[in-house]
Order: sequence, then structure tokens, then C-alpha cells
Amino acid sequence: PFDMLIIGSGPAGASAAIYAARKGLRTGLIADRFGGQVMDTEGIENFISVIETTGPKLSAALEAHVRQYDIDVISSQRAKELFPAAQPGGLHGVALESGAILHARTVIIATGAHWRHLGVPGEEEYRNKGVAYCPHCDGPFYKGKPVAVAGGGNSGVEATIDLAGIVSHVTLLQRGSKLKADKVLQDKLYSLKNVTVLTEALTTDIEGNGTKVTGLTYRGGDGADHHINVDGVFVQIGLLPNTDWLRGTMKLNDFGEIVVDSHGATSVPGVFAAGDATTTPFKQIVIATGDGAKASLSAFDYLIRMPVS
Ligand code: FAD
Repeated sequence: PFDMLIIGSGPAGASAAIYAARKGLRTGLIADRFGGQVMDTEGIENFISVIETTGPKLSAALEAHVRQYDIDVISSQRAKELFPAAQPGGLHGVALESGAILHARTVIIATGAHWRHLGVPGEEEYRNKGVAYCPHCDGPFYKGKPVAVAGGGNSGVEATIDLAGIVSHVTLLQRGSKLKADKVLQDKLYSLKNVTVLTEALTTDIEGNGTKVTGLTYRGGDGADHHINVDGVFVQIGLLPNTDWLRGTMKLNDFGEIVVDSHGATSVPGVFAAGDATTTPFKQIVIATGDGAKASLSAFDYLIRMPVS
């Protein structure tokens, strides 16, 4: 069995694996896709100490760093079920989609999350060419330009307030008749001069010139199609943690995030979690890597406290 089995090879999982291997632990890493969401990213300018990089470059660097160590990388595999140890200190089982079952003294779940997509024409075609999902990441790329935000919940309104300080103008489109964000956020939103809020505005199409976004079309409450010119569309209709396979095994919150304490411990003794799949606030690469290191060190602490058998 492994001392530590890490599920997911994004920034959180890669970091957890390196920390485990550096402790001399027998470490396994289930890696269906090195880099995770980082692979879907174009420019990255906020991974501190790396002035500028790209998603594919950073993903390759994560993989190269992992491969420096004696880590058993189980490639092209996904976990489908967790069987927690029958008693604290026992072995956990992890079933893979291939049918194999791996055993480990500690498990770290780092399966990340994915952004809910609008599912409209142009969204895929212009991803990273004007279609964005993360205002902290991509906001500065639109300095002085007009953008739109799709989604009127807390994240859409937060993104609009954030972007209004950087871009020339933000149009917020909410499908329903009312914004769903907290009142304090709405008060702040309506105090901003360079924001237009459109309700009953269903985004139906993202348009571009072949290389980048130039605008979008929405269906208004009047039933007619309307067009606005924007350089960017920030889609803010939900970040979904990849945790469906854990339902019923451990405590998840209403959003499906794995509930972790300040050490990355889950509700199952010996099972830890890190990164975007968890309740850790702010979903960022630098945060996920730190979180992976923290969960790994916590699992190590757990291991050294196991009774001598
Ligand atoms: P992830 O990166 O989501 O990795 C999780 C991994 O686990 C994936 O490989 C996934 O396939 C795998 N997995 C899922 N389920 C299973 C399973 N059952 N079994 C095995 N493996 C599984 N952050 C920044 O800091 N700066 C940026 O510029 C930036 N830009 C972004 C741009 C885009 C388009 C997106 C989508 C995100 C961006 N982010 C950015 C956010 C950042 O990518 C995430 O916060 C970070 O990747 C989270 O790391 P993670 O390891 O927790 O999860």
C-alpha cells in the first residue's frame, strides 16, 4: 500500500505529491491530466515569482517537478470511489475507473473544479480569446476596454465590481428578473458609474472576428435580440467542484465542496483534501499549490502519530 495516495494532478495534487516524496513516503499520484485547469489557461501572470507563463508551460513544469522524485504516477486514470478505512489508522481503498483498487494509509483529494459554461455559440471558439472565467486572472488583460459579465449571483456581481476598477465599462447580464447577489454587493454595484446592469437578459451568442471576441447577443425581456460590443465576456455562473463521486462518503457543503479544516483534514480521519475541490476560499494556482503542501504535511503528521504495528 501507499503511505500517501493523491488523487488529481493539478497544482494542488502535484504540490502534495512533491511534499510527500520529500518526506520519503511511498507516494502515489493518480494523474488523469497534469496541470488540471492550468492546461485550459492561456497567459498566467499571477503565479508569484514567475512573471509570465502559459498554462501548457506551467503544466509541463509541474509534471517535470513531480518526475524528479520517486513518485508512482498512475497516468490516464480517474478515481471513481473511495472506501474509507474501517477504523482510524486502517487502510483506505480507492477504486479506479479501470476497475483496479489501490490502498493507502492516507489519501489526499485534489480533484479540482470546473466552471459552468453558458453553452452558447462562440464560447468554446473564443475561450482565452475574449471568453474568460476568472476575473482575478484575466481582468488586467482588459484594462481600458469594455467587457460583459454573464451571471448575476454573488460571483458575477463581485466580478463586475472588481472589473469596473480596471476596464472602461462593464455590462452585467442576468438571465432572471433580479440579481441574486447579497444586498451589500448590489448597493456597491449600483454606485459604480461605469457599469450597466441588464436583467432578463439571456446571453445567446458570443461573436468575434475569427481571432478575438468583438461582442455578444442577448435575448431581452421584450423577446428581441440585442447586440453589444465588448472585448471580453466573463462567464460567472458557477464553479463546480469535481466531487460527485464522493457524495455520501464525506462532508461536502451545499456547493459540493469538500469541507476541510485549517489543516486540510476532511470529515474522514486520514483523508485530506486541497485546492479548488474544497472549501478553501479563492480558487487560484498559488493558493492550490500552498493548499496541497499543507494537506500533505498534515497527512504526514497523521502518519507519524499512527500506532506502531
Ligand atoms: P485542478 O487544476 O482543477 O486539477 C484537478 C485535477 O484533478 C484535474 O487534472 C482533473 O482532471 C483531475 N480529476 C478530477 N476528477 C478526478 C478523479 N475522479 N480522479 C482523478 N483525477 C481527477 N488561476 C491563477 O492563479 N491564475 C490564472 O491566470 C488562472 N487562469 C485560469 C484560467 C482558466 C480558463 C481557468 C479554468 C482557471 C484559471 N485559474 C487561474 C484557476 C486555477 O487554474 C485553479 O485555481 C487551479 O488549477 C486549481 O488547482 P487544483 O489542483 O485544485 O485543481
